Amino acid sequence: MPATAILFAKVCFLMLAMSSLCYGHSEHHHKTISAHKHGEAEMSIAIEGEDVEIDLQGSAADIVGFEHKAHKDDEKLKLAQAKLKLQAARSIFQFEGGDCKLLEHNSDFSAVEDKRSNIADHIHTTHINIPEAKQHSDINAHYHFKCTNIDSLKSLSININEIFPAIEKTDVSWIKNQHQGHEKLGKNHSKVIFK
Ligand SMILES: [Zn+2]
Repeated sequence: MPATAILFAKVCFLMLAMSSLCYGHSEHHHKTISAHKHGEAEMSIAIEGEDVEIDLQGSAADIVGFEHKAHKDDEKLKLAQAKLKLQAARSIFQFEGGDCKLLEHNSDFSAVEDKRSNIADHIHTTHINIPEAKQHSDINAHYHFKCTNIDSLKSLSININEIFPAIEKTDVSWIKNQHQGHEKLGKNHSKVIFK
């Protein structure tokens, strides 16, 4: 074996040994044990001045169909598709009044995203199995709308269960100035009315 090949093998072995250590470590920190129920999502809506901030938290099972790190190509595709669906704020949220426009959106798929793709490929090709933590994984999305006519804002329809049919119920808490409310949205009830 040429010297370079031996060196490569040594480096490779070292990287694998280190990556499995790193793997266990990062799993521990990034995967939080959450008490989510499959089929149910949570949403908070905060309206202050002209700003409407919406946070959505759902189980990865409901949004992408699994809760482990996406290793396979079809799993990575599901993540990309779900991100696009969440990004399409107009299809999820319909404001009645308000003249609201989306200013900012971001989503957090880190619980199911595999950031170590090269190492993971290496592990897969060498058939080293590292057990996945059997925990729940959440996906979060954030939306910031600016509403130039906030006084005319009457309601918000939320079609999250049409976009992600596995989400059967959405627990919504909202706060608008001094008022606040709570709604359980489902198939036949998708509107939050702001009093
Ligand atoms: Zn779960």
